Amino acid sequence: MNRSEEIRKICEEKQIRMIDFKMTDIDGRWRHITIPVERFNENVFVYGIGFDGSNYGYAPVEKSDMVFLPDPDTMYVDPFAKVPTLTMCGNVCVIGKGENRPFDQYPKNVSLRAVEYMKESGIADRMVIGPEFEFYLFDSARYEVSPRQCAYQIDTRQAAWNCRLDAEGNNGYEVPHKGGYHIAAPQDVGYDLRSRMCMEMENWGIKVKYHHHEVGGPGQMEIEVELDDMPQMADNTMITKYIIKNMAAQEGKTATFLPKPIYQEAGSGLHVHMLLLKDGRPLFYDENGYSGLSRTAHYFIGGLLSHIASLCAFTNPSTNSFKRLVPGYEAPVTIGYATSNRSAVIRIPAYAKSPETKRFELRNPDATANPYYAYAAILMAGLDGIEKQIDPAENGWGPYDFNLYTLSKEEQKKIKGLPKSLEEALDALEADHDYLTKGGVFPQRLIDVWIERKRAEAKKAGEIPTPAEFMMYYDL
Ligand code: GLN
Ligand code: MG
Ligand code: MG
Ligand code: MG
Repeated sequence: MNRSEEIRKICEEKQIRMIDFKMTDIDGRWRHITIPVERFNENVFVYGIGFDGSNYGYAPVEKSDMVFLPDPDTMYVDPFAKVPTLTMCGNVCVIGKGENRPFDQYPKNVSLRAVEYMKESGIADRMVIGPEFEFYLFDSARYEVSPRQCAYQIDTRQAAWNCRLDAEGNNGYEVPHKGGYHIAAPQDVGYDLRSRMCMEMENWGIKVKYHHHEVGGPGQMEIEVELDDMPQMADNTMITKYIIKNMAAQEGKTATFLPKPIYQEAGSGLHVHMLLLKDGRPLFYDENGYSGLSRTAHYFIGGLLSHIASLCAFTNPSTNSFKRLVPGYEAPVTIGYATSNRSAVIRIPAYAKSPETKRFELRNPDATANPYYAYAAILMAGLDGIEKQIDPAENGWGPYDFNLYTLSKEEQKKIKGLPKSLEEALDALEADHDYLTKGGVFPQRLIDVWIERKRAEAKKAGEIPTPAEFMMYYDL
């Protein structure tokens, strides 16, 4: 039996009626295309399914035919389709005269090449990572765009999943400002929904570490997962966001990963824990090193911190990302590393003590990132640090075991900050990307397209009058 016959048999057993194919676009959104099971045959694996790559950000209109090749190893019954539907991910190819070639900018391919580069370097053969998914659940996103799109209002206060005292009244259980961390029911309004999200993640094969209410409130949530191999975790990131958003929608809510939806409330990050392994041996542990970290781990940190401004163009690629990176909300603002310190961009968890768990987390990323590009860029920055033996302490990046939000003027001069805007991060990427293009991991064309797209977004955001401007200048 060939692959398609096997799948047809599964479909018969499970009474599947549709086969669905999911692809990631350049921004990191899932897109999909669906065919009746009757049309499914071996040709799908041989010739693939043609689509318009220009709408994915992958090709110009005049050369936009591309091909999707499904990977049957990723198949899963889509829990959010009412019609029984088998869904799968796969690869995207450009059409050649003979064979079609894997598209070098396709996010999954970039992440796979980063791992290949790591293996060829001889430094390590696995990078395992664990992202932390922070998001807000809102009753609905009540934002209005005026007909001329020249001003918009986002009523996030009302929209926040609401136990607050407002026009509609208060149920008596308010989440105190900045007081939502691990808060119990009844204030923890998302308790059961989160549990069900995690059950669905487990069904899909993603191991959940734990879930809880987050600081912002009411309605900021977090789900953490166990560490897994980098490209797999990029897939898992897509699946997790799909589950979270769809299960919220089933309840008539919206889940948003927008890094800073509400002014003066905690933002939502996507901290990434990481460690490298070689021949099954973890490389980040040394009982005599600072905080139990090996030289290799230190150099990896050095690489991350030396490229952090440019890295932000992939890990924090929205204009809103930089509204989260402000003092006072446990999001990082300065370049440095430390143990237990949530104001530093790299935190070494004090409780991870064994060689197998010895790791650190990078705290600046947020979930507006395309996870494949972001995780691959993180790996490439770290490997560059190992190759060049960049020592973070010698470069004056710490360890900073004090609150970095309350620096004196003098200290502020010494300790460099993270980029303050998307434009700054893009300027940094334009000047510093050799660590990404090494070994052809990030094609130069992708860097160029990324900068162009993101500059256009920054320009647009800058041109739109905002509620803040109404607040500050309307009456002048
Ligand atoms: N929400 C914070 C951030 O923006 C993190 C808070 C936490 O995990 N304790 O990164
Ligand atoms: Mg966490
Ligand atoms: Mg958190
Ligand atoms: Mg964290």
